[in-house]
Amino acid sequence: MKIAVLPGDGIGSEIVAEAVKVLKALDLSFEMEEAPVGGAAYEVSGHPLPDSTLNLAKAADAILFGAVGDWKYDTLDRPLRPEQAILGLRKHLGLFANFRPAICYEQLTHASSLKPELVAGLDILIIRELTGDIYFGQPRGRRVATDGHFPGAEEAFDTMRYSRPEIERIAHVAFQAARLRDKRVTSVDKANVLETFQLWKDVVTEVGQHYPDVALDHMYVDNAAMQLVRAPKRFDVIVTGNMFGDILSDEASMLTGSIGMLPSASLNAQNKGLYEPSHGSAPDIAGKGIANPLATILSAAMMLRFSLGQAAAADRIEQAVKTVLAQGFRTVDIAEAGAKTVGTAAMGDAVVAALTAQG
Ligand code: NAD
Repeated sequence: MKIAVLPGDGIGSEIVAEAVKVLKALDLSFEMEEAPVGGAAYEVSGHPLPDSTLNLAKAADAILFGAVGDWKYDTLDRPLRPEQAILGLRKHLGLFANFRPAICYEQLTHASSLKPELVAGLDILIIRELTGDIYFGQPRGRRVATDGHFPGAEEAFDTMRYSRPEIERIAHVAFQAARLRDKRVTSVDKANVLETFQLWKDVVTEVGQHYPDVALDHMYVDNAAMQLVRAPKRFDVIVTGNMFGDILSDEASMLTGSIGMLPSASLNAQNKGLYEPSHGSAPDIAGKGIANPLATILSAAMMLRFSLGQAAAADRIEQAVKTVLAQGFRTVDIAEAGAKTVGTAAMGDAVVAALTAQG
């Protein structure tokens, strides 16, 4: 099992180190190779996704990714910015299906910004299409100049587009995922205003006819944003496009207490995947040793389950995370006011100890 380890920028190296520590504590043999990505790669090679990193990612069975980005790169031409690395990996590897589970752990209901009774027991799965929509439309953004900058531009535009096959394949992913859960899919669109999302709605409805055992409903994105904070437990699987999914999944993260708890998997048609926390590089806390590594550790569990065929090991990690939460270990982002907190490495150590204690 060959894993490409791409820590990236900011807190990326801190949190990925803890996930690697946890993987090494399992009785499995992995070949792990690390490479720079994002701003870290730009610093050494002048490009956020150098060929050497892309080739390593292509050759691996799975990719464990930290996060990329830092405000200091905001003045670079857009193709050289760290975030382009993640878009490039998605595109080159065909990672079209993004799974973002939002689970509210019993011990963290207090950390949610919503009332405990609204989030207790929450377990929803957002499936976001990842390689289409306005983020990949052509022409993209402020097209005409070649240097990527348009000082004083009077107009800017981005193109939203989806094709029927792109919608069909993500819809199948959503219905199949729902079959393993509560068998309900909510497709989120903006069909009342956008042609792209009228097509989305029509195609999801057609695909749904192949899954008579799964209940399908449709919701406009503005309503979905509201329902997620009004009654989030009404959802089971949400399937939506790239941009709406980007926004709704961050909103859902706060239901669970902290974005530091949310893992994600981005899969291609062969189940090869890139696994990363849902959060970014958190430059505001980088280097302080206080970032929550649990989202990355839980992403490693998803990697074992989806790409490496090691479901039992994935279960063990998820159980170990529940154990450390029950034992009272808290990083600062999930701590109750006045509670004792641990740093990034101590949280990783606690997960390893809980794994070891499982025998
Ligand atoms: P962010 O997710 O990095 O941070 C948002 C807030 O959440 C910050 O206050 C941060 O301290 C906190 N936070 C994030 N992860 C945490 C963790 N594990 N533990 C504790 N607190 C945590 O989002 P942002 O500040 O909008 O973006 C920062 C940079 O990250 C930008 O350059 C952005 O482009 C980039 N980014 C990258 C990815 C990615 O690599 N996939 C995703 C989102 C943002």
